[in-house]
Amino acid sequence: MKPQTPSIPPSDASARKSIAPVICYPTDTLPRPDLESYRAVRSALSLVSTTHVPPRDAASFHVPQGHFFRIICPQGPQVGDLNLFNANDILERFYSGKTRALNGTHVGLGDQLFSNFPNMRPIATITHDTLDWYGFDEFGGSVHDVIGTRCDPYTHNLLSHGGQYHACCHSNLTRALADAAGTALHEAEPHVHDVLNVFMCTGFTRDTGQYFMKASPVRQGDYLEFFAEIDLLGVLSACPGGDCSSEHSSDAATCYPLLVEVYKPESLPKGWVPPQPNGYDRTHGR
Ligand SMILES: [Zn+2]
Repeated sequence: MKPQTPSIPPSDASARKSIAPVICYPTDTLPRPDLESYRAVRSALSLVSTTHVPPRDAASFHVPQGHFFRIICPQGPQVGDLNLFNANDILERFYSGKTRALNGTHVGLGDQLFSNFPNMRPIATITHDTLDWYGFDEFGGSVHDVIGTRCDPYTHNLLSHGGQYHACCHSNLTRALADAAGTALHEAEPHVHDVLNVFMCTGFTRDTGQYFMKASPVRQGDYLEFFAEIDLLGVLSACPGGDCSSEHSSDAATCYPLLVEVYKPESLPKGWVPPQPNGYDRTHGR
């Protein structure tokens, strides 16, 4: 919350505040996926792998380029924190901030998840969302946000004045990535990045602009489905906050597992072209 400022408002303060906003990144020139062609191949999918994510823990999974994967709520309401990497180059990873700038605070059907610089390209496309009916609620909340970062033991330590908690999503993701990459924890940790908060219901309070969460509307059987634009290594944490209706960073909330299923389509979407690394020449004016 911002402190009350001692400044005296200028005489035209209300006029300045009433200026209508402008969308930072108009999407008219953003290349969009041909969603119809993606969805057309969903009718013939073969299950190729299943990954169970235990409560308050994380697990990794691979998705070959051109396959689909689903993050499923198999039991009770549960939020998942997702990291995505280029399976062939761990330095290319999901870029939550730019995905947010391009798509808005929450992602859904037809939105694409972008990778970091310098590749900055779509690495996954959302092809189905059983929670797409939710939209935005009266509090400004919605699901699948790219505004939160992930619960982590450092913020917990700060806010709890020294607390040590080891099942935050950040630690869960670190352990699972270390196992997947065959590295030590301290080598894996710097690669863990801001997540896509799958099924989490969040927003910013209208009066103070503070990040809020509320009970996820997800129920058993709901899922969020993606098309892998490149070979992906995914790491998913079942947040210790459970449905995130009360608190996280503790063992207080009821938690449930998550499930990841990877599917191979009989054919690739018509007209689909693998995303190339970003075309900027990287000379930066020199
Ligand atoms: Zn978490």
